[in-house]
Amino acid sequence: MRVVCLSGGVGGAKLARGLQDALAPGELTVIGNVGDDVCALGLHVSPDLDSVLYALAGLNDEERGWGRADETWRALESAREWGGEGWFQLGDLDLGLHLVRTQSLRAGEPLSSVTARLTASAGLATSLLPATDDRLRTSVVTPAGSFPFQEWFVSRRHEDEVDAMRFEGADAAAAAPGVVEAIADATAIVVAPSNPYTSIHPILAVRAIREAVVARSVRSVAVSPLIGGRAVKGPLHRMLSRMAGGTSPAHVAACYEGLIDALVIDRSDAPAAAAVPLVVADTLMSSGDDARRLAATVLEATV
Ligand code: GDP
Repeated sequence: MRVVCLSGGVGGAKLARGLQDALAPGELTVIGNVGDDVCALGLHVSPDLDSVLYALAGLNDEERGWGRADETWRALESAREWGGEGWFQLGDLDLGLHLVRTQSLRAGEPLSSVTARLTASAGLATSLLPATDDRLRTSVVTPAGSFPFQEWFVSRRHEDEVDAMRFEGADAAAAAPGVVEAIADATAIVVAPSNPYTSIHPILAVRAIREAVVARSVRSVAVSPLIGGRAVKGPLHRMLSRMAGGTSPAHVAACYEGLIDALVIDRSDAPAAAAVPLVVADTLMSSGDDARRLAATVLEATV
């Protein structure tokens, strides 16, 4: 098989790891969101790509849900003590990656090429591709004004209600090398259980990527990020209620109109009807085994 998975950070990374475990080496390509990328302490941080990279390499902290296992925070403490910005959580081990990435980007290397070197360093056979090498940044429109994604998510603790999302730079952004080819060559497309608004729509905002998915001749299957009508973590159910009018499987499916052929939903959300056929499964991934089982169900649904 040649499976392409569109993924955000935390929820997406768990399924990406399950897919990697369920497939033969080299059969998986993950296309990651870069709309959340941020500059912190002068470093280029790609939180979603890094969540996927860490999960695929088995370096992620399963309990915290983001960042690296066995992390320490001394560099950030020191930065704060010296009067530096400390709003964005960066652990010591994590910082090492951001230093390497930032140095390469400043030397003119594209993000996709840096990311390929990082996955190779981690010994991964899976390909991890940023949606674009161009600057694409998500901003969040709220009643209190518009905010860059991380300012809304981290500094304002995603407490403002969301009226709309904007993907700045998306109109001019080209898909990163290999992205459109991977989608066109795929035998299956999977949309991970990520937040559609903050993680998947910024990927699909790159016109060539959306067009490649729309033009597919293979099945595309999404996994709902809701369990019992609520996000496992984060603001998605509030966003869906306000922007889509509800939190049923139909509302999730409507986020991917024309882009999916089936939606895998959690047992707690059935029965319901939606624009695409629903596949009922246990979708909470509390362990690697859960993720592998869910990946197997998703792959079956793509046949
Ligand atoms: P972010 O970019 O780090 O916010 O990560 P994602 O968008 O990839 O993930 C956030 C979404 O993942 C939330 O809406 C959660 O509901 C969903 N999520 C997290 N863990 C799980 C899980 O185990 N199962 C399912 N179905 N969804 C999950």
